[in-house]
Amino acid sequence: MKYSLKDIAAIVGGTLAGIDMVVESVFADSRTSVPGGMFAAIVGANHDGHRYIPQLYARGVRAFMVEKDVDMQRYPQAGFVRVEKTIDALQTLAADWRGRFGGTVVGITGSNGKTVIKEWIAASAPAGVKLMRSPKSWNSQLGVPLSVLMIEGDEDIAVIEAGISEPGEMVRLARIIRPDIGIITMLGDAHQENFDSPEQKLAEKMLLFDGAQKVINGVDMDTETTAVEHNRALVDALWKALGYQVEIGDLPPVAMRLELKEGINGSLVVDDTYNSDINSLSIALDYLQSVAGGRPRTLILGDILQSGFDDDELYRRVGDMVLRSGVERIVGIGDHISHHPFPVATEFHPTVEAFLGTMRRDDVAGRAILIKGNRHSRFERLSHALSSRSHTTVLEVDLDAIVHNLNALRFSGARTMAMVKANAYGHGAYEIAATMQHQGVDYLAVAFADEGVALRERGIAMPIVVLNADADSFELMITQSLAPEIYNFESLDAFASALTRYGERDYPVHIKLDTGMHRLGFGESDMERLADELEKHASLLRVGSIFSHLACADDPSRDDFTRTQIATFDRMSSAICSSLSYKPLRHLANSAGAVRFPGARFDMVRLGLGLYGFGSDGLQPVSTLRTRIVQVRDLEQGAGVGYGCEGVVGRPSRVATLSIGYADGLDRHLGCGRWTMMVGGAEVPTLGRISMDTCALDITGTAAAVGDEVVVFGPHATIEAMASTLDTIPYEIMTRIAPRVKRIYVKQ
Ligand SMILES: *Cc1c(COP(=O)(O)O)cnc(C)c1O
Repeated sequence: MKYSLKDIAAIVGGTLAGIDMVVESVFADSRTSVPGGMFAAIVGANHDGHRYIPQLYARGVRAFMVEKDVDMQRYPQAGFVRVEKTIDALQTLAADWRGRFGGTVVGITGSNGKTVIKEWIAASAPAGVKLMRSPKSWNSQLGVPLSVLMIEGDEDIAVIEAGISEPGEMVRLARIIRPDIGIITMLGDAHQENFDSPEQKLAEKMLLFDGAQKVINGVDMDTETTAVEHNRALVDALWKALGYQVEIGDLPPVAMRLELKEGINGSLVVDDTYNSDINSLSIALDYLQSVAGGRPRTLILGDILQSGFDDDELYRRVGDMVLRSGVERIVGIGDHISHHPFPVATEFHPTVEAFLGTMRRDDVAGRAILIKGNRHSRFERLSHALSSRSHTTVLEVDLDAIVHNLNALRFSGARTMAMVKANAYGHGAYEIAATMQHQGVDYLAVAFADEGVALRERGIAMPIVVLNADADSFELMITQSLAPEIYNFESLDAFASALTRYGERDYPVHIKLDTGMHRLGFGESDMERLADELEKHASLLRVGSIFSHLACADDPSRDDFTRTQIATFDRMSSAICSSLSYKPLRHLANSAGAVRFPGARFDMVRLGLGLYGFGSDGLQPVSTLRTRIVQVRDLEQGAGVGYGCEGVVGRPSRVATLSIGYADGLDRHLGCGRWTMMVGGAEVPTLGRISMDTCALDITGTAAAVGDEVVVFGPHATIEAMASTLDTIPYEIMTRIAPRVKRIYVKQ
């Protein structure tokens, strides 16, 4: 897109205040700021984009669309388009831009397969066709206008995905997209609860195609085919409808997941080895930027295929994107890319093998590396070589599920503190903290100062509270801007002295009250003295919050006790607040407390278990522990397996050995058939005792083979089930997954 702010204001019926300028893109996610782009401040149930304006301005963003008043004095060089409702204005603007587009617009809707089909259309586009498609699953009331505004104008084809969850939404999307050709994929059950019938949902979806010249209807197609054949037929029908002769060859597996892995020599690797196009490069660069922290950034890039641009133009654009994303070094691999200069340090290699042959470990040490390949050039080898620890057991953490859970547990009027103590309950403190920071969570909490320091060293800048702050670590905490929990008078005095030595003033502390758990905290009889002491130290420290902890929030049989705790907390915390000249936050609820007792939410909720997918309905499982079969053996009846030969087989059996044992965190009590794992869709029991580094499964009657993946726990064999087998709780299972198990992070 390309508009002046003045034109935008005229098109959307808003007013321009400040400076007029031309903008070439729009963004609504404050993390993905693009110089020259306009930030659209969206207000949602749990989110207010206006909060990010000061920091975006500081980062050089000069154009804004807002629906609230802003203090113009603070932003002398900026221009603001003021509208009634930003989301509506974006939709109007996108509809205008659509009207100016001369290429063909393909609209896709349906419950299943939209994103796969979109990717396949792009992958099968004939040479010379310039095609854009909406990124990821940007198919919502916000995603669609942002996608349409990404059309540059000279494309031949724009493929835009539309999704709805309620009646009435499609009309708004249809007004923006106005597809020339429509594709409706399969209908599934998604969001059926909001529609009276599948027919009503189909009718709603068809509204998208009201003005379309042709609709390719996957719902009416042969239902006997597999999903792959079905999707291929839709793609084929589209190219015919568009008038192209296209031989659809092998379509890529759509693994559009960016994986974040620990790399060799302390590096961080973002792995995106499948897609190679300019859209997904821009998404991956954003992601690299958001996780890199202070690390120098390297992009390892293969030839980009089928962009629709000539190579000069293509790689000039790549160079611009690279500059904006702070990448300081490019390793180009392939014939095409090697002919083009880039505006940062560059080296070229003809093949992945050639690069691996010359690579020194120092080339990667401590860096954040994006690997962006294409499906022809064996980039998997590269990502394998750069990933640390060849141990084949991995804990896969789904960051999208964590974000889903976070949003499910955000409550209006209450802030959010994310608990990342104990390595974020075993999930990896840094990656979870970085995700929380990007999601605009208000606070993080860790158990010990060292955990907080580790986060600061990797660039986490948001407020961090240290729960078990030990007086020995106070000075370290002050130098790293970590705020302590203060739970008795000794720690209050010791912290005040440390602040005096460091010449600090107004330093935030968090006061812990004991309301019935009887672990740490000030008791009710301490309240008067506490008020006096806080008064005495008034210039040194500021009470950031007052809080307590519920002992039985998840236990309905103890709800009376919980209600007493809530009342006690309200009384005690009010007493302290009334003695202060300002209003600290008050908070009490953990995940279960926040869900079960709205009255316990006060000003903030502290989320632990719920973030990681446990304890309430509507949360998504976050982690999957996977390993592989390293050996398969046939045993005769009566043979024993493992230490103590306990796994004696009562029939001729096939046995698989896995490289996971109790040193990885797999409890010994899960041996001898007490746990089943998933192998290729079959549930198979453990056999014999669990050893330190290995264990065995009885795979008799299955097709399992060496190298097959085994899910130890995951969405099917759940952590809750494992916890109940072991008579413990999910916290213990997760926190015992050993550090040597590689964590990998996936997101769409
Ligand atoms: C760990 C912890 C929480 C989080 O509890 P969950 O049950 O995991 O949600 C909340 N508050 C405090 C003080 C904690 O130590």
